Formats: sequence, C-alpha cells, structure tokens
Amino acid sequence: MTSDTREGQNAARYDAQRIEAKWFERWEQDSSLYSAESHSTRRKYYVLEMLPYPSGALHMGHVRNYAIGDALARYMWMNDYNVLHPMGWDSFGLPAENAAIQNNTPPREWTLRNIAAMKAQMKRLGFAYDWSREVTTCLPDYYRWNQWFFIKLFEKGLAYRKKSRVNWCPKCATVLANEQVVDGCCWRHEDTLVEQRELEQWFLRITNYSEELLRDLDRLPGWPEKVRTMQRNWIGRSEGTLVDFKLDGATDPANSTITVFTTRVDTIFGATSVQLAPQHPLVARLTKHNDLLRGEVDQLIAEQRKAREVGDIDEIEKHGVNTGRYGINPYNGEKVPIWVANYILMDYGTGAIMSVPAHDERDYEFARKYKLEIRLVILPVGDPEETAVEPKLPFTTMQGMLVNSGRFNGMDCETAIKAMSEHAEKNGFGKATVTYRLKDWGISRQRYWGTPIPMLYCEKDGIVAVPEKDLPVILPENVDITLTGGSPLGRVSEFVNATCPKCGGPARRETDTMDTFVDSSWYFYRYTDARNDHAPFESEKASYWFGDRGIDQYIGGVEHAILHLIYSRFWTKFMRDMGLIKNDEPAERLFTQGMIIKGGAKMSKSLGNVVSPDDMVEHYGADSTRMYTLFATSPDRELDWQDEGVEGIERFLSRVYRLVSKRAASLAMQGTSRDVWEPRLMMDGAVGIERDLQRKLFQTVKRVTDDFKGRWHFNTSISAIMGLVNDLYLALEQEIYEKDIRGADKLAAKITQESGPPPAQVEAEFLRGLLAYLVLLMAPFAPYLARELWEMLGEQGSLLRAPWPKYDPTLVKEEVVQRPVQVNGRLRSVITVPADAPEEFLTKAALDDVKVKATIAHMEASIAGKAKVKAVINAKNLTNVVVQIVSTGSDAKKGS
Ligand SMILES: [Zn+2]
Ligand SMILES: [Zn+2]
Repeated sequence: MTSDTREGQNAARYDAQRIEAKWFERWEQDSSLYSAESHSTRRKYYVLEMLPYPSGALHMGHVRNYAIGDALARYMWMNDYNVLHPMGWDSFGLPAENAAIQNNTPPREWTLRNIAAMKAQMKRLGFAYDWSREVTTCLPDYYRWNQWFFIKLFEKGLAYRKKSRVNWCPKCATVLANEQVVDGCCWRHEDTLVEQRELEQWFLRITNYSEELLRDLDRLPGWPEKVRTMQRNWIGRSEGTLVDFKLDGATDPANSTITVFTTRVDTIFGATSVQLAPQHPLVARLTKHNDLLRGEVDQLIAEQRKAREVGDIDEIEKHGVNTGRYGINPYNGEKVPIWVANYILMDYGTGAIMSVPAHDERDYEFARKYKLEIRLVILPVGDPEETAVEPKLPFTTMQGMLVNSGRFNGMDCETAIKAMSEHAEKNGFGKATVTYRLKDWGISRQRYWGTPIPMLYCEKDGIVAVPEKDLPVILPENVDITLTGGSPLGRVSEFVNATCPKCGGPARRETDTMDTFVDSSWYFYRYTDARNDHAPFESEKASYWFGDRGIDQYIGGVEHAILHLIYSRFWTKFMRDMGLIKNDEPAERLFTQGMIIKGGAKMSKSLGNVVSPDDMVEHYGADSTRMYTLFATSPDRELDWQDEGVEGIERFLSRVYRLVSKRAASLAMQGTSRDVWEPRLMMDGAVGIERDLQRKLFQTVKRVTDDFKGRWHFNTSISAIMGLVNDLYLALEQEIYEKDIRGADKLAAKITQESGPPPAQVEAEFLRGLLAYLVLLMAPFAPYLARELWEMLGEQGSLLRAPWPKYDPTLVKEEVVQRPVQVNGRLRSVITVPADAPEEFLTKAALDDVKVKATIAHMEASIAGKAKVKAVINAKNLTNVVVQIVSTGSDAKKGS
C-alpha cells in the first residue's frame, strides 16, 4: 500500500528532466528512427529548415525555426509520408578566421568543435533529423563538388574573370557581392562603410537567367509575397528604349555616338539636355584638352564615390557641368547641350540619359538648379476643359497625350512608346530593350576559410581549369591568417606553385576562395545522396525527393530573401540545364518565420537580453521551450520572449501529465489496442458527457489538422488542445480552469460534493481513446512527453509511425447553440436552438419564447395601442424582433 501510494504520487509529478533524459537515451540508440526511406511505397515529403552557421551555440531564433519544421515533419510522418528531414552546417566563412586570429585555434578545429556542440543541443531539444545525411560544407567531401560545379560553369562560359570595381569591406578584408552591401555598409559590419576597389574577380553569369528568375516568381504561389516582391525589385527589370544621339561637330563620327537608355521615349521631344556619367568614355575625350573641365569632372567623381560609400546615391546633392558641346536628338534634329552629372551612374543603363525636366522628377530638379529649358510635351487626358490647363510640373504619369512632338502628336503615352521605339529601329538610331538591375555574381573572396577556386594560371596557356580527376583542390592547413596583404593562400608556396595540366610547365594556382553563398546554393540536393563520392548526387535520388516542384516545404529567415534564395534559384536552373535535375525551382513552398525579440528589442549581448536555449532547457525542459516558441504567437510574427510564458507551458504540460499518468496504468491493464479503442471513440450515437467530450475532441483534431494544412497558426492549435484538456479536467476531476492575466490556464474552482454532482463516469475504452488521441495531438509539439505518455498508455512503437488522429466531420458540429434575441434592438432573451435550425424554426422559437412574449405584452400595456410584430430578422448569430406600436382604431382597420 505505502509503496503503491508513493509510486502513484511520483507518477503524478511532471519531471521533464527525467522523462527527456530517458527518451534521449533511447532515441540515441535507434539510429534509424528519423531515417528517410530510399525506396518507399509511401508518398514523399521533403521538409527542410535552413542550415545554420556553426557559431558555437544555438540561439532562440534557431530553436523557433527548427521547432516549426520539426512539428511539420512529425505531423507528416504520422500521416504516413516518407519524410526527409535533414540538417547540416554552413561552415565556411569569416568568423572562423577571426576566431583563429583571436584564440590561435585553426579554423577547422574551431568549426568542428562548434558543430559538435550545436549538434548536441539539437539532439537535446529532440529535433528529428536524419543525421546519416549530415552535410558539412567545409569538408572536402562537400566542397570538391563546389569546385566541380565551378568547372562546369567555366566550361559553359558562366564563370568568367574580369577586372571591375568591387565592394570592399575593410573589416572583412575582402570583396563583397552587391547583395552583401546593405545601405552602403557591410552586411556583417553594419557600422563599416564599404569601399570601392578595382580588382580582377571571378563572376558567375547569373544575369543569363535574369528573365527566368523574374518570370518564375509568378509560379511560386507557395512563397511569401514579400519575398517575391523583394526578388522582383532586386532583379529590377525595366523596359525601355535605346536612342543614339550624335555628337555635334565630331571629327571622328564613328566613335561619337551617345546611346541613352530611357523608359519614357514618348517624352523625347521634351529633352533639353543629355547627361553623362562622369566615367562615361566620351567624357574623357571631351575633357582631354580642357583642364578646367577635367578638374570639375574629377570633383563629380569624388562626390559620387563618397555618396556611394555612405549608401545614399539616390539622395546625392545633384551637381553637373556643361561640356559646351551638343548632341543631336535624332527624332527632331535638335541640338541639345551635353552635361556631365554626379547622379548618373555608369553601371546603370548606358551611363547616359536624356534629360526631360517637364516630365521627370530628377531632371526637373536639375533643370531648375541650372536654369535649363523646361518644355512640356505631354498633357493630361480626361475632361477636354481640363486638358487645356497646363499640368503642375513635373508631370510624370503615363495618363497623358503627346503635344509638341511632331508626327507623334495626339498619341497616348503607351502607344507613343511603341511607335517611337519602332521608328528608331526602322531608322537605325535605336530600339526597344530590356535592362536589369541584377548584376553578375562576384564570387572571389580574398579569404582563407572557403572553397579554393580550382583554376590555374599558366604563362603559355593562360587560365586553365584543374582537371576533374585532380579534385578536390584541398584547402591547406597551418596557414598564416591575417586580415592584411591579400589572400592568405597566396603566402603558401606549396599551394600556389602547381603544374599546368596542358603544357606541364609551371603554373600559379588561384588563391582566392569562393563566396560561402556558393556552399548554400545547392546543399539541399546533397542531402538526397550525401555520401556519394563520385558525383555531387545521383540524379535519380534528387529527382525522387525534388520531383518537378522542389522541396515540399522550406523554412527560414526572411533575411535570406535576396542572397541565398536568388543564388539557389540560379543554381537550380543551371543544374536543370546540365540535366542533373528536373525541377525549375528549389522549393515549392517557402515559409519565413518571425524574429524573436525580448523587451521590445532584438536579442543582443550588448543589451543583455539574450535568452539561451540551454538555460531554458535546463530550467523547463526541451518540450516546454519548443512548445512556447510555437505557442507565443503565430510563427510568421515577431515573438517577444517572456520567461513566464515558458512557465505557463510547463504548467500545461504538467496538467497533461497528471491527467494521463493518473489513469494510464489501469487503462493500460485492459490491454486493448488501437483497433478496439479507436472505433469506440469514433462511434456515432454517443450520449451525455461522452458525446460532449467526443465533440470537443473532434473539434480539436479538426482545428490542429486544419492548422497544419493551412496557415500553421500553431498558437491556435495549442490553444485548442488546452481547451480540450480543460474540458477533460472539468469532466474527470471537476476542476475548473480559467485563463490568468498572461493567458495561462490556472485552477479557478473545484466542484465539491456539496456544490455539485459527482464526477462524470466515462467508460474505460472510450477514455483510453480520448487520452491516446490527446497524446497523439501533443506529439508534434512536445515529443518527449508525448512519447512517455504513449508508453504509459501501453501503446507500442514510435509515435512517428502512429497514425494521426481522425475525426468525423458530422460529429464536429455543436448540436445546440445559444442564440440571443432582441426586441427592437434590445437584448431580451437567449434561446437554445439546434445548431443547424432553419430560419422558420428560429423565427418561431423567438416568438414563442416566454421572455419575448412578455416584452411585447408589456409594450402593449404601457401605451394605448396594439403591438404588432412587423418583422423577425435572423442574422448570423442573433435574432431581432421588430415590433411596431399602432393606435387602436383606424390602424386596426388598415391591418385587417
Ligand atoms: Zn565586413
Ligand atoms: Zn600551360
């Protein structure tokens, strides 16, 4: 007796650490637990969270990201899918080098140690990853395929080398891609201005895919609209017209064309100057014998560079100089002055524009400043009275009609653009064209900890690719890393000095390494065949998991909307063109989770508001920590961390534990299996408390299932489960729970024998089904606790293979509902009616209601007249009875 009681008491206390330690051990021993099947009759499902950079410790943002993916993976497993849910490490990159300098630890050692630590954290949190497919991008078995792909790109002319002006972060001591410059600063060093330098660099010709990258965004309805918009803007397609202005009085007519790019050729008769970027080739010629002009142009260049460095080139104070020369507008033969201006950029369009002050904001501002002519050539259309009135300048909309434009007068803007582009093409001085903002991807980095670019430089043969059989080009160890003096690999003579595979003579090895975004551009394909040592992956395996639509669900931060998600789309299209895969896009659906903040601010060491996942797990357990990240708000929104919230979840888990553990032993003793209790649970014709609980259960199953299939509002899923648990407590324990001020459920009252009826009697088989379903619903959110309770209930095998709960849609509906009844807009009664009652029934029920009748009688008695029901309006959740008072006599006659 005493030992039994003690055991009973122990069982009633939720001890997360004990439960989680127990299952952690068991899961560790079962290496195939989360393995994807390579051959399966089940449908496939590939769910992926973005792989982390191994900084050394997970932060809460990671936990949230992985908790979302893990809940989905578990749900899909329970729905009998063959699930691929892998994890890996984006493990090249600068912090490893900085750590090496600071702590005198080689980057490889530092990185692998961090990976081990973070992997242990992930396992402790119970994330269901297939570790047999782990990918570590800094190891040669992975990066050799970066090199292989690079050679393929080179062979196809998609990797090339050119000298160009590049973004240089002095803190990183390396080049940055355009995408890595944020407001003029380094993406890693928000306080460090990016400088411009001239360097020989390797580029990938991503612009070959500009049109397709843009067009296919329309075929990704499963991606957040904000991500698609960001990508559209980044690709920046603009349709326009190229028009050649001849330099007036040119001695060398062949090389004296100024090609301008304009999106509004319809306004060209209003062009009153041509504006060149200071770096435009013609400028050098025009200033050759004019030192004064040269000096002024140099000043403009300096201003432009400065503005670029602080990142507000669009905000630059506009300056220009008149060259004293003229260009000839080919549409009307008019001579217009040629200016050089600091706000014209050489890398946008052609580096030359026509200036139309009347119809362009910037041109207007410039013309006012320098007193240039402003000529109206578009009038607003609409009311003929109004069109006579000159518009306020600049008039920039397309809702207009051409004037002062020769043969094009009277055309609307859109028609004119087409006609005038055709006119230019026919007469050989221009054509319609499309330009993109997207530039080729500069991938050379002057850093050590990255994939060596597999290229050689031979005096005789020039640039030569390393033969495939010689891959990988191994990144040497024991390299002296400093952040000055160029690529660290350049100081390793054994690395630099190589043999030319073509002529056998000496060759110099490329010493730059690849941008680490190369690593993450294709890593998810490697997961499908991670141990392949003769190819990046087998096409057949990738095709099985990617199908023709890509990863079923990809989950990560919105900060990757441009960089990673454009590069990996490009890489996918390139691999498709190589014939390696069939899909056009890497992922069919993308979900971007919200950030985690605390006290209204981003978590950061300097603010001291960082919440460590380890602390939370130690304090509340992995289940509470994970479940809180899903419960606090919907996953797409910003989450403001509250330790009290985690505590609330822990209390909820304790209640679930108490509810089930108290009954589990006796229920398990019955020894029946799911094929007995499940039909009992689904039974049509339950009555009384069983029917109430069945309805609540089915409503909960429906809610959670709908949330998984729909918008992933796991906060409402978990709330629904809490509601179910409350109903079970009321029925079985006679305890009433209510939400406290923080939204957590707290015991509000206990019904005693004096105050109420005895607890409901629920038949054992039915109860067992109820509790088993509750555990199944908990499994995606709190896997440790769910597994413990599943075992307690005497169920066998992994919860991952236990079928997801069902519900009978006809038994979900409430049978009766409470319906307020108003008389002339004032609430007078509440009636109980069947949930699906037809309108006539509602009308009759309202009019038959005692309180409604009494109200009407009272109205009649209080005046000398007759109360007549004029109408009964049945709104969605409310009935309103409209009563009219008529005086007796004349109206009685009318009424009859
Ligand atoms: Zn930097
Ligand atoms: Zn050679």
